[in-house]
Amino acid sequence: MYNKLTVEDVDVKGKKVLVRCDFNVPLNDKQEITDETRIVGALPTIQYLIDNGAKVILCSHMGKPKGKPVPELSLAPVAKRLSEKLGKEVIFAADDNVVGENAKNAVSNMSEGDVVLLENTRYRAEETKNEETFSKELASLADLFVNDAFGTAHRAHCSNVGVSALLKPAVAGYLIEKEIKYLGNAVNAPERPLVAILGGSKVSSKISVIENLLKKVDKLIIGGGMAYTFEAAMGRTTGTSLLEPDYIDYAKKMIDEAGDKLVLPIDTVVAEKFDNDAPSKVVEGSIPDGWMGLDIGPKTIELYKNVLKDAKTVVWNGPMGVFEMPNFAKGTNEIASVLAELDAATIIGGGDSVAAVNQAGLGDKMSHISTGGGASMEFLEGKELPGIAALTDKA
Ligand code: ADP
Ligand code: MG
Repeated sequence: MYNKLTVEDVDVKGKKVLVRCDFNVPLNDKQEITDETRIVGALPTIQYLIDNGAKVILCSHMGKPKGKPVPELSLAPVAKRLSEKLGKEVIFAADDNVVGENAKNAVSNMSEGDVVLLENTRYRAEETKNEETFSKELASLADLFVNDAFGTAHRAHCSNVGVSALLKPAVAGYLIEKEIKYLGNAVNAPERPLVAILGGSKVSSKISVIENLLKKVDKLIIGGGMAYTFEAAMGRTTGTSLLEPDYIDYAKKMIDEAGDKLVLPIDTVVAEKFDNDAPSKVVEGSIPDGWMGLDIGPKTIELYKNVLKDAKTVVWNGPMGVFEMPNFAKGTNEIASVLAELDAATIIGGGDSVAAVNQAGLGDKMSHISTGGGASMEFLEGKELPGIAALTDKA
């Protein structure tokens, strides 16, 4: 488990503090921000630093400019939105070199409580290779480092890992602290029973998650497209449902080893084709020829509710069906409603799972919605996240 210094453990007054944020927000073709969740998520750490008299130097990547300046991927729109959110000016240090003359000047003119945002760190080719030249330039701007970009914590780049080695102490911001607390506790020191719900499209993309969680959970519920490979392993037919034939043997082995830890669907909502308006019905057990499973059935929902009702910790990754289609969103929505009512720590990880919970309007009923798809997945896989590992340990 991580035991890292956080912003509150260090004296920031009058210090130049470099903060790695995750401002990788979606933009439309007019460079307008279409979802400000990540900006909002970064506010508590930034506000804390302002309130405590730091000189706040923010940095982030956005998109994939592949090591050169790409005006469409400038962080300028983020500076503007951030200014509105903070109710104070965020000075944008436009600079094709990220840490060039412009950035250095902006930083040297800072007073306590000022905020400067640097340009997209991926304008520099060194960034994603974690090459020391750029890490040194970033480190030269500041006195200490705060990492609050959980979304890139599974990557070792200059602006998180490289700079952490050069700028000590390197501490966690509130967002990373919260991710460690919820995801870390859920996996490593959960209040039990611990139930994991895994769904989404493929077994193959979640094997490491399944393996790691099976070691830790009291129950592992499987739904979504990955369930059919398990059903095939039980000898059921799966019609035209998503199936990974190469993983059937693997699923068999899992079923044998996990015994009644593993909870699988007993009925399925099937349709004639992958279409919201296709004729559909509920079948138990095997899926008939020509039919495709698109959601868990009502008996499965009841079964899963039952397994969940005494849970004290629930980790959910992957929707129970094709929730993007309203006619096949019921399983996912019902599970979300159950979690919303539970007296338990409920942790949601994974881009689509988070979207599904928010689509159901239940985001604020969960204990924790992870802000990093890939990073939360690697956490659940039991892997070390380099962006967090590089931070300074508590004494
Ligand atoms: P997450 O992003 O939460 O980790 P995944 O990316 O693994 O989740 O899976 C999400 C996708 O799985 C969704 O687009 C959803 O439509 C799809 N899915 C879920 N159930 C099925 C199914 N029965 N058939 C086909 N696709 C499915
Ligand atoms: Mg996904």
